[in-house]
Amino acid sequence: MFIVWGKKAVTRRMGYVADFCPVCRGPKAFQLNRVGMASHVYYIPMGEGALIGHDRACNDCGVKLKADPRTYTSIPKKLSDVDSLRRQTYPQLLEVYAERLRIEDKVRNAPNELTAEERAALIKQPFALLAHVVQRRFSATHLDKECLFAMTGTAVAMLIAGPVTTAVAPEYAPSVLMTLLAAGSIATIWLIATCGRRYIKRKIIPVLSESLRPLQPTLSEINSVLAELRRVGQKLGKKLSAEDLLRTMRAM
Ligand SMILES: [Zn+2]
Repeated sequence: MFIVWGKKAVTRRMGYVADFCPVCRGPKAFQLNRVGMASHVYYIPMGEGALIGHDRACNDCGVKLKADPRTYTSIPKKLSDVDSLRRQTYPQLLEVYAERLRIEDKVRNAPNELTAEERAALIKQPFALLAHVVQRRFSATHLDKECLFAMTGTAVAMLIAGPVTTAVAPEYAPSVLMTLLAAGSIATIWLIATCGRRYIKRKIIPVLSESLRPLQPTLSEINSVLAELRRVGQKLGKKLSAEDLLRTMRAM
C-alpha cells in the first residue's frame, strides 16, 4: 500500500495582539500564530511540529508578517478593539512606530510634503507585502465557486439530459451528451484559467486600492512597481492589471 507522508507547515493561533500594519497604514489587530513543521500522514499533521517561527495576520487586510511573541506583554485569546488590544498587548506601539506614524500622518494630510524616496517606498511596500500573499496562494491549486459551479453544472446537466434524451429521442442522445460535455469542459477550462485573475480582483485589488488611495499613484508609478515584481519572479507583477487597480481606486 502506498502511504502519503512527509512534512507540512502547521499554523496554530496563539491569540490576538495590536501592531502596526504597513498595508492599512496604522495600528491594527493581528492574529498571532505559531508556525511549526510537523510530520503528516495523508496530510493529517501529527502534532504542532518543531517551531519554525511566528507570524501575525492583519485582521483587516489579511497581510501576514513575521512576528516575535516577545514583543507583546500579553497575548489574549479574545479579539477586542484595536485601542484596548494595544493597551493590553503592546503599550509602547505608538512610541516604537512614532516615526512611521508621523510619515503616515503626512500621507493622509500632506502627501505633497513627502520626499520622492518616501513616496516611492510607500507605494512599493503594500505591493511587496501582498506579493507574498499572492505567491503563497498560487503555489497550490485553488478553485473558486465559478469553477466548482461549472464542473458540477456539467455533471448535473449530463445526468439530467442522458435519461431525458434517451426517452424522447434516443438517436440524438449521444450527440446531445457529447455537446454538453464539450461545452461544459470548455467553460470549466476557461474558468480555471481565469481563476487567478478573479482572486486578484476580489481579494488583492480592494486592499491595494485602500492602501494606495491617499498617495494617488500614477499609471507609470504602478507599472514600474509591477515590472520590478515581474523581474524578481513575483506572480503579482504578472497577474495584476494597473488599469484595474486605478479604476477601483478612482471609484472609491
Ligand atoms: Zn492590514
